[in-house]
Amino acid sequence: MRELARRETPAKASPSLDAGSGAGSLAAMPDQAAGSRERPPDTRDRRSLLKRSRRTKIVATLGPASDTPEMIAKLFHAGADVFRLNMSHLAREKLPEKVEVIRAVEREAKRPIAILVDLQGPKLRLGTFAEGAAMIENGATFVLDADPAPGNAERVHLPHPEILQALEPGHAILVDDGKLRLTVTEAEAGRAVTRVEVGGRISNRKGVSLPHTVIPLPAMTDKDRSDLEAGLNAGADWIAVSFVQRPEDVAEVKKVAAGRALVMAKIEKPQALSRLEEIIEISDGLMVARGDLGVEMPLEQVPGVQKRITRASRRLGKPVVVATQMLESMITAPVPTRAEVSDVATAVYEGADAVMLSAESASGAFPVEAITTMSRIAEQVERDQLYWSIIRAQSSTPDHTAADAIAAAAHQMVDALDLTAIMAWTHSGSTALRLSRERPNATVIALTPKRETARRLAMAWGTHPIVTKDASDVDDMASRACKFAVRERFADVGDRVIVVAGVPFGTPGATNLVRIAFVTREHAERA
Ligand code: PGA
Ligand code: MN
Repeated sequence: MRELARRETPAKASPSLDAGSGAGSLAAMPDQAAGSRERPPDTRDRRSLLKRSRRTKIVATLGPASDTPEMIAKLFHAGADVFRLNMSHLAREKLPEKVEVIRAVEREAKRPIAILVDLQGPKLRLGTFAEGAAMIENGATFVLDADPAPGNAERVHLPHPEILQALEPGHAILVDDGKLRLTVTEAEAGRAVTRVEVGGRISNRKGVSLPHTVIPLPAMTDKDRSDLEAGLNAGADWIAVSFVQRPEDVAEVKKVAAGRALVMAKIEKPQALSRLEEIIEISDGLMVARGDLGVEMPLEQVPGVQKRITRASRRLGKPVVVATQMLESMITAPVPTRAEVSDVATAVYEGADAVMLSAESASGAFPVEAITTMSRIAEQVERDQLYWSIIRAQSSTPDHTAADAIAAAAHQMVDALDLTAIMAWTHSGSTALRLSRERPNATVIALTPKRETARRLAMAWGTHPIVTKDASDVDDMASRACKFAVRERFADVGDRVIVVAGVPFGTPGATNLVRIAFVTREHAERA
């Protein structure tokens, strides 16, 4: 425990921080040498709050409860590392304005923040009913057809001709988040006859889920295409693709994004599980979207699927987010249930990169409390000795690449020397991600000249991204790394840090150097 206790104590050094240097990690581009201006006395303490004391990241969905710049700033300071803009609810025209509010928080806090724009995807919906709704009884026959006329207790319009084509006898149709359940008995072009397994009130434009049918729909609807373009133009760091069924669905979005943003596949359909490895391979990140997953497959299977996706994503080094109903009761109450605390803890113990809040932060009565709660759970779990043994038990072997060999070596070095920081010079962020994949018991401080890289890395386990100009030579590489380690309070004079880089500098994808650097008084003075 000695080592863990030490890590919880902030470094005692009081570096003479220089306001003129752009002080913060984000504004420090280009990084200027320390000057002589006096920093206001409270700034250092403020900044120390922005060094998160946990490895697991928090994604907070924005919505009516978190609509104002003040609230968004509060959520960030409470612990949100990533903000999700959900295009199922947010009007496209509002995107640039929302992004700008988050960027203003980022500038003020001088810490990179990731913005995740979540595309609605091909969410299927029923047509309408003459009376707005109808009651369908268990055992009755109910027809879905191509006729746009308002529905009744016998039939309703399903405004997706390709779905009517794809349905086959035996397929289940779930309506309204699975509250109603139909089974197809006869399928013909433009019409499906079903038996009502679980009946009840069926109403206008309710969502439809088809757990057995591979839907012949493109991953992106017209709305998604427009939202994607708007998201990329507004400066999204991550794009989430909903209802992914095939690797091609992700590929399509990646093609449009063309490197402007990373692409996260939301696993929320059982169909995706049969090609999970391929989907993870092609995606930049994954989301265990338990909301829709729990509609489309038996609820009791979701925990196992969560573990499977988390482990496979970790193995491939892709950031993975566990989402939905994590602190559901905090939508209306200031404290969570024991079961919810346990659920968040489980995701953290599994080594998920991030845990997510949906309605809790978007429309609940206690958004700040929800983030604070999540943060405290993650901190507590990560302090548990068991946490590290569980994380270790699932560690994966390095790939046969220089980057992975270096990452594994850096990991061994922090263990052997009991160090707290791995300073990783990175362009694309991939060096930092491979280090994060190692899940070392030291923070991966990603030093990058690219603001986009820093923002994207805010999603990844155990990373602390900093924007700074590229190292000019090996001395600069080590000394500026030491300086940042002190400035951001990951190390103190006399400590050693690991520095990882690729030489020659400025050549992306050439990680080939790992070095142990001593933090000297001079570094601290210049920090
Ligand atoms: P959603 O995705 O909130 O966009 O539906 C998450 C989920 O389904 O769990
Ligand atoms: Mn969903």
